[in-house]
Amino acid sequence: MTALPTDQTITDLLTGGLKACGVDTSVLTAGSSAAASLPARSPITGQSLGTLAADTKESASEKIGAAAEAFAAWRDVPAPVRGQLVQRWGQLLGEHKEDLAKIITVEAGKTPSEAAGEVQEMIDICEFALGQSRQLWGKTMPSERPGHRLMETWHPLGVVGVISAFNFPVAVYSWNTALALVAGDAVVWKPSENAVLAALGAQSLLACAAAEVGAPEGLVPVLVGGRDIGDAMVRDERVALVSATGSVRMGREVGPVVAERFGRVLLELGGNNGAIVAPSADIDLALRGVVFAAAGTAGQRCTPLRRLIVHESIADDFVGKLVAAYKTLSIGSPTEDGVLVGPLINEGSYEAMQAALKQAESEGGTVLTGGARVLDDERPDAHYVEPAVVRMPTQTSVMESETFAPILYVVTYSDLDEALEIHNGVPQGLSSAIFTSELAESEKFLSRSDCGIANVNIGTSGAEIGGAFGGEKETGGGRESGTDSWKAYMRQATNTVNYSGELPLAQGVEFL
Ligand code: NAD
Repeated sequence: MTALPTDQTITDLLTGGLKACGVDTSVLTAGSSAAASLPARSPITGQSLGTLAADTKESASEKIGAAAEAFAAWRDVPAPVRGQLVQRWGQLLGEHKEDLAKIITVEAGKTPSEAAGEVQEMIDICEFALGQSRQLWGKTMPSERPGHRLMETWHPLGVVGVISAFNFPVAVYSWNTALALVAGDAVVWKPSENAVLAALGAQSLLACAAAEVGAPEGLVPVLVGGRDIGDAMVRDERVALVSATGSVRMGREVGPVVAERFGRVLLELGGNNGAIVAPSADIDLALRGVVFAAAGTAGQRCTPLRRLIVHESIADDFVGKLVAAYKTLSIGSPTEDGVLVGPLINEGSYEAMQAALKQAESEGGTVLTGGARVLDDERPDAHYVEPAVVRMPTQTSVMESETFAPILYVVTYSDLDEALEIHNGVPQGLSSAIFTSELAESEKFLSRSDCGIANVNIGTSGAEIGGAFGGEKETGGGRESGTDSWKAYMRQATNTVNYSGELPLAQGVEFL
């Protein structure tokens, strides 16, 4: 454990990051005289960072209206020219990578390396989307009628509403936005109420890029607020697609509302990720993969490892090494060198972790290490915990839901079919992994894991932008980021062009 920084150190870090990204630091006090306000807080100290001006339902509606007008102009800009906007955004993000990362560290509690990695993901998707701007291709296929051409074409969809979670405060926004912008859409963003400052930093750089390339005003607004403002956006019929990232609870609320008005929805919800360690695994490699995936970002990712399924022949040895590795993890402020595990976002997360540990024990589990709160004498309003490893007799109900904190449950298996049954036996389906040296085991796992992401010999977290990202079952079924995810942000049309001078009907139908 390391010492915690002073409030002044945190404020200096934050204001330095905000100013460099072009955000006026008066935002930190603007809420005191505004019609609606939102508190900002750092999980590192637990202290307030300021009071932000928030949107009302009326101002949110105006911004959505302006975005709809901007869309009407933006959709007519050729896609490769639209690509210049994301290209410039990516360049600005590259120039301000450390500045934006500082805000993420202060507001979300990520280590500088993980925060910079998040910004790098934004830069990567901008590069990807630039290339995509010349590849919004449709198919042509032979028509059954002579003198006819049959093809599919893709068109801009409209206003896209993005809802994001606190733990990836800016990257997930960029996955959606970079693709939606080259697709010809406007994007309204309702960031997490726990990470508004990082959102303002990212959006300020995008607004600067938009002005430089002459994009229409109002194309990429931010709505500052909590669930009520998110709900207002979700209900707004002018929003053609709602792309929502967050908990399963949120998805259950948002999905039906959008479906009711026949809008489109893209859901990226909670995970409950598992990894199998087979007897043939490279144990040192597996150990490093497991520790990063389970304890990194203090377990506050959608893809962390929460369920470890180890073969019974190696379980005691592996778990012993795992516990020893956990005891070496440095917990503390992410601003300090060498710290690997930062704070939980708030007291609610800490309480959820304690409740889950209690439930695990009542279901026959044994806490092998971790779970205790630390550094609370120095910072009673911040919540630092030792990541926990819990040995379970079998997969019990506590393991079937996501606790957004660093708890790793360990169970054993005797054959791969049993391991797969345990692995797939939860309602969520985001990320999964197997550690093995056997080709047959690896192939069987890749075809039988029911998750959107299945890895071999790496952990469950740390996706690259090139592959589509998302999960099955309660995780929501959405796909963002790479390959053909761009199609979610476009409208598909099938076109038949008749140049025959006759009017033959399909399927040989005769009429008139
Ligand atoms: P959360 O569900 O509490 O909030 C997420 C966002 O949804 C916030 O912006 C919030 O204001 C908004 N929101 C909540 N209820 C809403 C409603 N009824 N209508 C409109 N908006 C609403 O989640 P969180 O605590 O910020 O983030 C953690 C959760 O997000 C975890 O479950 C994690 O697994 C998940 N997550 C998933 C992915 C993924 O890609 N699958 C990525 C990151 C986080």
